[in-house]
Amino acid sequence: MKFLRPPPKNQFNVLPTSRFMFLVIFIVFPIFVFIGMYGIILVAAYLGNFDKIFTLSDNWQYPIVKILGIPMIIFFVPVVIIVNYITYISILRFFQRERREYFGKVELIIESLPASLFLRQVNGDGSSQLIYRGGRYHEVYRTRDDDARFDGDIFSLSVGYQKAVETYLACLRDGETVLEWEFLRPDKPSCWIRSYFKTVSLDGNGGGEIIGFGLNIDREREVALRNVHAIRMSSLGEMASSIAHELKQPLQTLSLAAEITMMQSVGHPVPAINTQLETIINQARRAADVIEHLRRFSRGDVPNEPPRPVDLRKAIEGALALVGAYLRASGITVTFNDNTNITLLAHEISLQQALTNIFINARDAMHDLPPGKIRQLRIATRRRGDQLAEITISDTGGGIDTSILPRLFQPFVTTKSTDAGTGLGLSICHGLLTAMSFKISAHNTAEGAQFTITGPAERASAGQIQSPSTGV
Ligand code: ADP
Repeated sequence: MKFLRPPPKNQFNVLPTSRFMFLVIFIVFPIFVFIGMYGIILVAAYLGNFDKIFTLSDNWQYPIVKILGIPMIIFFVPVVIIVNYITYISILRFFQRERREYFGKVELIIESLPASLFLRQVNGDGSSQLIYRGGRYHEVYRTRDDDARFDGDIFSLSVGYQKAVETYLACLRDGETVLEWEFLRPDKPSCWIRSYFKTVSLDGNGGGEIIGFGLNIDREREVALRNVHAIRMSSLGEMASSIAHELKQPLQTLSLAAEITMMQSVGHPVPAINTQLETIINQARRAADVIEHLRRFSRGDVPNEPPRPVDLRKAIEGALALVGAYLRASGITVTFNDNTNITLLAHEISLQQALTNIFINARDAMHDLPPGKIRQLRIATRRRGDQLAEITISDTGGGIDTSILPRLFQPFVTTKSTDAGTGLGLSICHGLLTAMSFKISAHNTAEGAQFTITGPAERASAGQIQSPSTGV
């Protein structure tokens, strides 16, 4: 245990080592023993059995009792004291061993706690001294043994002396208090601690002893911030759905107006105008397509429905329709080599959602590449055996940070800042895909990351024709 000053006596002394005990063991007890024995001898003599004990004649009884009384004292008192002392020492050793073992276990428990434990003596004016510190406090404060600042009152150094005094006094007044505070260090990033304070004793002068523990809450705060971001993204998704709904009608009207104008111009053809009108109609249809994808995407799949046949090419093109512009804006070229006509057994929107997330991650990885570097997203599909299909998505973004690769599909694993990423995308992808009996894996190639999705496909029929490679 790490006591910074000796612990108060009595508090940890479970054995009676007081003067009273000394008196009992070495004086009172031997006297009682002696009196008892002397009494026995006297009673034996009185009853006339003394000679049987000592095999002496009747005439010798009383003088012998009297004579023997003195050597008995001399003999028995030291014997009793020695026996008593040996017994006492053995009991003491036994309890000391028990106590050592007990405190050893307590220490082991305390030292393995992922918290910083402390005992603090607080004076009536709020000034205080740290008496004990334990637990894995270096882990909590992300510090080392040789951190000089750590020897001071890091709490008051971080929150300010006045605030620390207020906290200690509030704890003495209310019995307990909790505080979240930022542990500030000039040379290293700060970390957030939640400290629980509890009063264990009051000294009658307005002071007392406070015990407590601190936990590192960096991760908890990060998750909370990411949750806020995730909720914001989710409301954006809902807004996108209603915007898609609102835009559908004006686009239809626009396209219809262009078609009517074209029809009305029959007989009075003005080639330039007709070309413009065709452009309007085509672009309005394209916009309507994107909006339709967006609408279906935000609506999601019907829960608990069994997987249905999904045209893999259409699913990938649908996902690309949603994020294509986003990829192009970052100067990314997309290559889609669909060499087979594959029908997957899947939930179309879930599949599209997983693909969209992987495309956006690839875009994020390539967006900040230095100018001149290749920014390419390659999508390829192939059959694997008779009943499986595989989609591979590769990019040239430099690859996934190897420190997160083993945990990539776990929630809140991210290398992005709290306002740029939630760390939820790939864990959601994993959930969506495994729910459809698909598998997803990731590894790094020489150029970047490669994701592989494998899932059940309908058997290839003999009449299926291989489709040519398509560039998007
Ligand atoms: P988020 O994108 O919100 O961080 P994700 O779960 O989608 O959450 O991704 C987790 C992390 O995986 C990302 O922060 C990033 O570090 C890494 N990652 C995912 N895809 C790629 C990729 N194509 N290239 C490099 N890193 C990637």
